Amino acid sequence: MVPVFDEDLCNGCRKCSVVDVCPMDAAKVVDGVLNIDEDICNNCGRCIGKCHFDAIEEGKPGYKITIGGRWGKKTNKGLAISKIFKDEEEVMSAIEKMILIYREQGITGERLADTIERIGFENIEAQLLSDEILERKQEILDVKLHLTGGATC
Ligand code: SF4
Ligand code: SF4
Repeated sequence: MVPVFDEDLCNGCRKCSVVDVCPMDAAKVVDGVLNIDEDICNNCGRCIGKCHFDAIEEGKPGYKITIGGRWGKKTNKGLAISKIFKDEEEVMSAIEKMILIYREQGITGERLADTIERIGFENIEAQLLSDEILERKQEILDVKLHLTGGATC
């Protein structure tokens, strides 16, 4: 669950019940207002309803993405990315990153599940959680290598 934080209701308490309950140390009171580091927050939802001033009354459902699942002769169960994606835009961005990773790092004829297995789930996950691959998007699309085959399926 993605916590919905209303900054206007936050009093910047010295002892914040959200900070106290957060298992990830994602929540900190900075300059008199709660700050949740979205890169650290794992959306466990434990902080929802914990603020006595109703600054986090609700959570909204997010999207879980699994990668590397495949069907057919050789089946494979997809592995879940640790982050919960908070909206469609984030989901689409993750899909775009996955396509770019596959195009750049896949080997001719290799299925995506095998690419993930070869490179390692942790490596792929780290790339999906960073924006570095998007910064190289044009560079990756300009490489003609895969236009003659390769990880195009
Ligand atoms: S989130 Fe709530 S408990 Fe935490 S500092 Fe803000 S008002 Fe206080
Ligand atoms: S959802 Fe969980 S990890 Fe995120 S700020 Fe709240 S308690 Fe911390």
